Amino acid sequence: MNVTVIGAGLAGSECAWQLAQRGISVTLREMKPEKKTPAHVTNDFAELCCSNSLRSDQLENAVGLLKEELRRLDSLILSCADATRVEAGGALAVDRHGFAALVTEKIKNHPNITVVPGEVTDIPEGEVVIASGPLTSDALAERLQTLLGADSDLHFYDAAAPLVSAESVDMDKAWFGSRYDKGTADYVNCPMDEEEYDAFWRELTTAQEAEVHGFEDKMVFEGCMPVEVMARRGHDTLCYGPLKPRGLKDPRTGKEPYAVVQLRRDNADGTVYNLVGFQTHLRFPEQRRVFSMIPALHDAEFLRYGVMHRNTFLNSPRLLDRYYRLKAQPRISFAGQMTGVEGYVESAASGFLVGVETARRLRGKPPIDFPQETAIGALGLYVSNQSVTVFQPMNINFGIIPPLDHRVKGKRNKNAELSQRSLAIIDQIKEEVLA
Ligand SMILES: Cc1cc2nc3c(=O)[nH]c(=O)nc-3n(C[C@H](O)[C@H](O)[C@H](O)COP(=O)(O)OP(=O)(O)OC[C@H]3O[C@@H](n4cnc5c(N)ncnc54)[C@H](O)[C@@H]3O)c2cc1C
Repeated sequence: MNVTVIGAGLAGSECAWQLAQRGISVTLREMKPEKKTPAHVTNDFAELCCSNSLRSDQLENAVGLLKEELRRLDSLILSCADATRVEAGGALAVDRHGFAALVTEKIKNHPNITVVPGEVTDIPEGEVVIASGPLTSDALAERLQTLLGADSDLHFYDAAAPLVSAESVDMDKAWFGSRYDKGTADYVNCPMDEEEYDAFWRELTTAQEAEVHGFEDKMVFEGCMPVEVMARRGHDTLCYGPLKPRGLKDPRTGKEPYAVVQLRRDNADGTVYNLVGFQTHLRFPEQRRVFSMIPALHDAEFLRYGVMHRNTFLNSPRLLDRYYRLKAQPRISFAGQMTGVEGYVESAASGFLVGVETARRLRGKPPIDFPQETAIGALGLYVSNQSVTVFQPMNINFGIIPPLDHRVKGKRNKNAELSQRSLAIIDQIKEEVLA
């Protein structure tokens, strides 16, 4: 039994390790050192191409829960991160070179893993896991586009607006409604008066932007204009664009406000909203500072900040099942950021699930079917959820985990309970997962 894993990033390394640990022979194909993506600079596997932080390590935070689940289930990425951690308050940050070197050493020394360097340009025969990341090489991306259907199934994602949790929006300063009251009241409308808009506009137009990476295509950048770029075209340009108040009467005043930011539901449960038209290139702290000036968002919890870079990801709700397997060709699975999970830990978690479930299938065992109450399971179920119509990459968050069946006072307490519920499940299934 052999599985070919393409890409030795966060997802591919974890997946290869989990397969190998379960006695499956793995051919790991990585294009480094022959070729590198525009964001990768070293020859090591599992290279962190930007921040060295794997984010919060607290159980009141969903990514803290995801890490703890992986830790308890013997994840390679988590054990190497813990072994190379550097002080970072409540976060798990690592010595990036030490971390990647340790992952590389462990992978290369595993008796069941054979590393084959070189760019993969076609999909190999047999069982395959494609984990080539958001910056998948052009040749493989083209091959995937042919495989998955020319125009609808492989997205080149250039920009995304931030996501906020529904419960953090101040509904005393916003209202549900649609423009001219047409259809159902699906949007959350966040009004601003002239003074509030003016202050917001000033900060937006002068806020610090993130570094422009060399690989960003000027044409793409022009094609999906960031909100701050549009704002700089004139004081009221946004009021004729995404912040247009026409047809949106504030029920408390009976009048159209000066400007309205609309939030659109981002998941079927209505627990996550995106800021319509707010694709942005601002630095993350600047997004928090400036977007929190919108009165209804003064205390908003940002589940994901807006980002702008080339990103190859699949229309997973149409294509993949809960095991990240291609429904049309189950011998092919995907893992990592290209499945629409966003972030280092999320990518590792998808690789983990694919490794565990693929090994079980090849060994004739029933699947684990990680439940939605666990963060590992919730991610797989989110990306394969066919009711998600406009699919955008997603960080782990408590919005995609089912709520508790009782009320708990305070968000931190509630999140801590959600984590305890999940970890109790993980402890129950641990023996079976590791078998
Ligand atoms: C510029 C940038 C900055 C980011 N910053 C952060 C951040 O700060 N924090 C965060 O959590 N997430 C960040 N991300 C998201 C990040 O990419 C993912 O979190 C994570 O690295 C994805 O893991 P992966 O395993 O899917 O892909 P990767 O880690 O990118 O691994 C993919 C691997 O596949 C290899 N490969 C590609 N094509 C081929 C091919 N044809 N043949 C063989 N090998 C191939 C690549 O060389 C690479 O080693 C960033 C992404 C980008 C693009």
